[in-house]
Amino acid sequence: MKRVTLMAKVDPEICRGCKICEKVCPVYAIKVTDKKAYSDPDKCMACANCADRCPFHAITMVKREEPYDVGVDVSKFDQKAIRDLCAKAHFNPEQILCYCVGTRAEEVAACLLDGATTPEEVSARTGMRTGCTIECIQPLLRMVKAAGNELHPNPNGFQWYGTTVTAWDMPEEVKEKYSSRGFYFEEDRKLLDEIANIQVDDEGGAK
Ligand code: SF4
Ligand code: SF4
Repeated sequence: MKRVTLMAKVDPEICRGCKICEKVCPVYAIKVTDKKAYSDPDKCMACANCADRCPFHAITMVKREEPYDVGVDVSKFDQKAIRDLCAKAHFNPEQILCYCVGTRAEEVAACLLDGATTPEEVSARTGMRTGCTIECIQPLLRMVKAAGNELHPNPNGFQWYGTTVTAWDMPEEVKEKYSSRGFYFEEDRKLLDEIANIQVDDEGGAK
C-alpha cells in the first residue's frame, strides 16, 4: 500500500520533448505529444524518476491537493491460489518484495490473479517499484513470470532488462565450478525454500 502525496508537473516552457521522462516512468504516466511532456495526475505515483532524469529540469514534484492510496486488498482473493503462486516464484506470501513501498509477495500475487500481466500493471496497482524504482524489479519479474506471463521489456524505453539467474535455475556446471570457492548455492536454495514455505498465524508467528 502506498499513499501518493506528490505528483510530477511539467513546465511546457522548459520541456524540449526529448522523451527521456517517458522512458523512465515505471507506470507509463508521462507521455510526450507534440514535443511536450504531460504527466497524468491520475496515474503518477510520485517516484520522481522523470524529475531526476529530465536533462532540462522541466519537471518538479508538487504536493497533491488530495493524496490517494494505491494497493490491492489481499483478503478478497483465494488465499490458496496466492500461496501457490508465491511458492512457484519461491517467495513466502508475507515476504516484502519492495522495501520502499512495503509491497508483499501476496499483494503482487493477488494483483496477478486479478489479471495484471506486466510489471507496469503491477506497479500501477500496488505501487511496487515506485520508490527507488530499481531494487525490486527482479522479484517483480519473477512473480510476473511465475504467473505464466511472457516478459517483454517496454518497447518505448529502457526501464528494465531480463531476469537474472537465481539459485533455482543456475546451471549445474556453474554451481560446481564455484562450490569450492566459498559459494553455497544448494544450501542457499534449501534455506530460501524453507522460508518460502513457512506459514504465519494470525499473530504473525510461524505455525
Ligand atoms: S525529459 Fe524533460 S525535456 Fe525531455 S520530454 Fe521529458 S520533460 Fe521534456
Ligand atoms: S510515476 Fe514517477 S516517472 Fe512517472 S510521471 Fe510520476 S513521478 Fe514521473
